[in-house]
Amino acid sequence: QYQGLAGRSTNEVLQLYSAHGQQQKLQRSSVVIQLHGTIKKRLKQDVKSLRSFALQLSKDFQHQSKTYLYQVLTAVQGIQLQNEAMQMFQLKAFDLEQSLQEVSERYEKEKQKRRALHNSLVELRGNIRVHCRIRPLLPFDTAAGHSISQDRQRNFSERVAYAADDETVLVKCSRPGHASINKTFQFERVYSASESQDTVFEDVAPLLTSLLDGYNVCIMAYGQTGSGKTYTMLGPQSENFAFSMEDESELGIIPRATQEVFRLISEKPPGSYWVEVSVVEVYNNEIFDLLAKDSCGKVFGVKRDVVTTREGKRDVPLLTHETVENASEFLHLVNLGLQLRVRHPTLVHAHSSRSHLVVTLTITTIVSGDNFGTSWEDEQSSQRLNKDVSCTFPQKMRENKSASSSRASSPAQHEATEKLKQVKTRLQLVDLAGSECVGMSGVTGAALRETSFINRSLSALADVLGAIAEQRSHVPYRNSKLTHLLQDSIGGDAKLLVMLCISPGQKYLTESMQSLGFGARARQVQRGQVKKKNFPVQSKAK
Ligand code: ADP
Ligand code: MG
Repeated sequence: QYQGLAGRSTNEVLQLYSAHGQQQKLQRSSVVIQLHGTIKKRLKQDVKSLRSFALQLSKDFQHQSKTYLYQVLTAVQGIQLQNEAMQMFQLKAFDLEQSLQEVSERYEKEKQKRRALHNSLVELRGNIRVHCRIRPLLPFDTAAGHSISQDRQRNFSERVAYAADDETVLVKCSRPGHASINKTFQFERVYSASESQDTVFEDVAPLLTSLLDGYNVCIMAYGQTGSGKTYTMLGPQSENFAFSMEDESELGIIPRATQEVFRLISEKPPGSYWVEVSVVEVYNNEIFDLLAKDSCGKVFGVKRDVVTTREGKRDVPLLTHETVENASEFLHLVNLGLQLRVRHPTLVHAHSSRSHLVVTLTITTIVSGDNFGTSWEDEQSSQRLNKDVSCTFPQKMRENKSASSSRASSPAQHEATEKLKQVKTRLQLVDLAGSECVGMSGVTGAALRETSFINRSLSALADVLGAIAEQRSHVPYRNSKLTHLLQDSIGGDAKLLVMLCISPGQKYLTESMQSLGFGARARQVQRGQVKKKNFPVQSKAK
C-alpha cells in the first residue's frame, strides 16, 4: 500500500495519511465507545448489585441491630426486675432480720422467765440441779503416748463432747466400722470450754442467798481425774496443792462462794452471823480432819467419824471447826488442809483425785426473842431460818471466839442460859474423787483397796440420789461415810448442785458418758415439796 503511494505527491500522501489516521481514530474511538459501553454496562450492573448488596447489608444490619437492641432491652428489663426483686429481698431480709431480733429478744426473755420458773419449781421440788462443764482440750490431751500409733493418737485427741447450747451436751459416739451417733444430754446449765470461772460462779451465787435464807447447800464436782473438778472447785493449783488469790479471775467456786457468803453477811446486822470452817478428806471410807492440831499446834490428819444426833442431824464429834472472819482467813485454812492432804503419812495416796475433799462452812445465826423482829426484815427467810432451831445458846460463847473455834460441834452440848436461839446452816463444797472406773485386774494391795473404796462411795452416792428420785422411804445414806457426811446437805429441803466435769477428747469418751449418765439420773430427782416448818412463837411477834 505504501509502495503504491510512493509515486503520489506528498500532499496526497499527507491527505491519505490523515485520512488513514482519521480512519484509525474512528476505528479506535468506536472500540473505545464499545468498551466504554461494556464497562458502563458492567459498572451499572456492579453498582446495581453493590446497591442491592448494600441494601441487603443495611437490612441485615437493621435486623441484627433490632435483635441486639431487643436483647439489650430485655436484659435491661431483666436487670431492672432483678434489681426490684433484690430490693424486695433486701426489704424482706431486713424485715426477717428485725423479726429474728425480736424473736431472739423474746426467746431470751422467755428463757429467763423459764429459768426463773424452773428455779422456783426446783425449789418446790427439793432442789437437785445438775450443771455440766466441758473443759477445753489441753496440751496433755494431745501429748503423744508411748505405745499408740500416730493415727490412733490423732483420733484419741479428737474433740467429741461439745456444748450444743447452754442446756445441751452433744457427744459424738463413734466405734470403728460404725457410723458415728450423736447423743445429747440436757442439764439445767451447760458450760462450754470457753466459759470462765466467773460465768460458772454466776449460776452458783443464788444458792448462797438460799444458804443465808436457811437452806443447807451442797455443791459437788463429779467427773473423772483430769476433767477439771479441782479447777472448777478451787482454781488452778500450784505443785504443792496451794491456790492463791493472786489471779482473782481464775478462782474457783470454793473461794468465790466464801467471798460471797461474807459479802452477804456484811449486809446483815453486825454480829448476827458467824462462820466456821472444817476441812475433811474422805479416803478409803475414813474421814480425816485436815484442820486438827496436836498439842504443839501442828496440824495432822486425824480420823473422825460421822454420827446422827438425837435431833436427827449429822455430826462429826471432835471435828475441828475454825472460826473465820473473812475470805482470806478461810483460804489460809483451806490451803493448810490441802497441803496436809499431800504430806501426811496416813494419807499417802499418789493423787489427790483418789479422795473426796469436803470443805464445810457452818453459818451460825443468833436469833433472840428481842432482836428477831428487827433483824430479819424478810419474813420468808426468817421463817426458813427458824426451821433449824436446835437449842438455846449461851451468849458468852459467841463473845469468846476461842471457845467456839476448835470446839466439838455437838449442838446438844449447849445449855440454855438465855433466850437466844442458834440457827445453823451448812454449805458443803465437795471435790469428789475421780470417777473413772479403774479396772481391778492387775491391781493389788493398797491400790485395789483405794479403787474399790472410791467405786463404792460413788455408787453409794448414785444410790442415794436414785432412792431420792424414786421417793423411797429408805434412802441408804449410811452405806458410805461420804453420803452419811453429806446427808443434811443433799437430803430433805437442802439444795444440791452437781457440777459434772467433762473432758472433751475421744480418749475419755467412756468416762464422759458414764459421768453424763450419772448426771442425767441425778437430774430426775424430784423430791417432795419443801415441808413447812413450825415456826417458834417469836416469829409471830414480828
Ligand atoms: P481433776 O481435779 O478433775 O482431776 P483438774 O481440775 O486438776 O482435774 O484439771 C486438770 C487440768 O486441766 C489442770 O491442769 C487444770 O488447770 C486444767 N483445767 C481444767 N479445767 C479447765 C478449764 N475450764 N480451763 C482451763 N484449764 C482447765
Ligand atoms: Mg482434782
